[in-house]
Amino acid sequence: MSGKMPNNNIQMVDLKGQYNKIKEEVDAAILNVIDSTEFINGPEVIAFQDELQEYLGVKHVIPCGNGTDALQIALMALGLKPGDEVITADFTFAATVEVIGLLNLVPVFVDVDKDTFNINIEELKKAITPKTKAIIPVHLFGQSANMEAIMEIAKENNLFVIEDTAQAIGSDYTFLDGRTQKTGTIGHVGTTSFFPSKNLGCFGDGGALFTNDDELAKRLGAIVNHGMYKRYYHDEIGVNSRLDSIQAAVLRVKLPHLDEYCATRQLVATYYNDAFTDIKQLETPVINEKSTHVFHQYTLKIKNTDRSKLIEFLKEKGIPAMIYYPIPLHQQKAYIRSEFKDENYPITMELCKSVISLPMHTELDENQLKYITESVKEYF
Ligand SMILES: *Cc1c(COP(=O)(O)O)cnc(C)c1O
Repeated sequence: MSGKMPNNNIQMVDLKGQYNKIKEEVDAAILNVIDSTEFINGPEVIAFQDELQEYLGVKHVIPCGNGTDALQIALMALGLKPGDEVITADFTFAATVEVIGLLNLVPVFVDVDKDTFNINIEELKKAITPKTKAIIPVHLFGQSANMEAIMEIAKENNLFVIEDTAQAIGSDYTFLDGRTQKTGTIGHVGTTSFFPSKNLGCFGDGGALFTNDDELAKRLGAIVNHGMYKRYYHDEIGVNSRLDSIQAAVLRVKLPHLDEYCATRQLVATYYNDAFTDIKQLETPVINEKSTHVFHQYTLKIKNTDRSKLIEFLKEKGIPAMIYYPIPLHQQKAYIRSEFKDENYPITMELCKSVISLPMHTELDENQLKYITESVKEYF
């Protein structure tokens, strides 16, 4: 590395800085689990389950091993059959389509909205066929998809809705009638991930499912644990997907900070927005007025500029920048099908070529933000 590299320690995500602020509490909580030796399904898991239910205002939280498992378990519990079609967005992380494929369901990709990057409602309507059984909206980068419209469409067509809330835990969605609900608690099932870099991250893998449906909650709870409703009675095929007690203990320390973490991310986003208003080549994030944005990512659209040169320029200044996501799902080798035509996904195609995400986490200080924004301005 060049000796000119400024030692500003700017990272995409600063897990260490966040940990240092709650270190004593986290360390004690972890040691407590070790001391108790209740590593699996211990009291910490039950307590976290209750606390998350309370926070989200949802009847049931079912912890599980990770966010990808959560999506798979949701699809299993809804009784979908091989060949059933599941609609999701073309512009997202591959976990969603992966589990659809694993269960021999048929993924149907829909283009996204050019402003919010979330599933496009008109395209969603067009994608519904007699075989469609479920919709998986992904609340991308931290804000909710248009849940009002999605729930209406689902009702009209008798479809299940599984909300992938891995990037938006803590965000609120407001319906036309004024009701506000946490994302993930609106559809039939919600899923999330506690991967370390998510807005509510643990110190390893973790995930959870949410539902307000008592029957579904029972089924989800059985599937996560080998399909057991009663110990050693396996009524259906399940999986082994558990949140371990050490992760639950860490999450119990962090959950009370989640709103403050979200607020800090929003402040960072505002700082960036203000700094970039006059740069014509940059389009700052557009916020859906029905949803709060918890900025899992701060993602800009770049116009008339070579994105890779900007990324290289920032890298030389010690500023990481990432592309989420460079390739549309419909073009991924594992999922490619002849009926997927690029021209059906113009927005996703454009976004994959033009987005760039800047450092976004709870520990960015004013000096770092000033340095990042001035460096970006210097480039333009
Ligand atoms: C991270 C993520 C997942 C997967 O979560 P894991 O815990 O890593 O399995 C699923 N969907 C989205 C949108 C994600 O960002």
